[in-house]
Amino acid sequence: MTNHLQGKVALVTGASSGIGEATAVALAREGAAVVIAARRVARLTALAERLAGDGARVLAVELDVTDEAACRDAVARTVEAFGALDVLVNNAGVMLLGPVEGADTTDWTRMVSTNLLGVMFLTHAALPHLLAAKGTIVQVSSTAGRVVRSGTAVYNATKFGLNAFSESLRQEVTQRGVRVVVVEPGVVETELREHITDPTAKANIEQLANSLRQLTPDDVANAVRYAVAQPEHVSVNEILVRPTDQH
Ligand code: NDP
Repeated sequence: MTNHLQGKVALVTGASSGIGEATAVALAREGAAVVIAARRVARLTALAERLAGDGARVLAVELDVTDEAACRDAVARTVEAFGALDVLVNNAGVMLLGPVEGADTTDWTRMVSTNLLGVMFLTHAALPHLLAAKGTIVQVSSTAGRVVRSGTAVYNATKFGLNAFSESLRQEVTQRGVRVVVVEPGVVETELREHITDPTAKANIEQLANSLRQLTPDDVANAVRYAVAQPEHVSVNEILVRPTDQH
């Protein structure tokens, strides 16, 4: 454990797997107290035990980010447990790829409510504490927030929307000491693709992923840790990190 984040408190959403789990571990190793939030409580409990065993201060919180009251409650529980909130990592997300034509529109509702509204609800609830702490918000966006492709319209819309929300927010709060960081990974080896309901879209993305050396969740967690551990006067606004093999 190093101590770049000693005394800091971080709330990480989507910490039950993939990038969020790796990020919680990375921030805890830097000395932060971590609040790990997601819907799958058993996964969170196992991670909390692992982190506590390594000497970290940790709290697991069941959270569905699409529920605004639950977002407010997660922030309140964070501050109650650890006295402050310095770092919010909005990582929870779903990627239900597929064409617009003939889409199951419940996939769209899930993506917009998780990837966009969820981030907005949590940011809104956390902002007073982040302003008080001169803290940092990390948004886990995607290359899909920078580059559009056929067959990924709604996922693209959520991540482009997230980037727009984040840049406007950055301009609103940066001079009051709150840093807004957008991290945009390319293909990462996680469970994200498993939830795609369109069989062709799922096969296409799996084929792409298997054709290259994917990023690991730790690779992305390193980018988050880099941004968060900078001195207060340094605001890393955007990190685009792709597998070397990815076009
Ligand atoms: P995972 O599927 O492993 O992780 C997604 C996490 O989000 C899970 O912990 C899941 O937890 C959580 N989650 C989903 N819906 C909700 C919800 N309604 N409320 C709370 N938590 C929720 O995939 P990744 O780690 O890859 O995804 C993390 C982020 O990274 C996403 O925002 C994704 O868009 C982004 N990303 C991923 C890339 C990749 O190639 N893997 C590339 C670029 C960006 P639970 O189900 O327990 O609630």
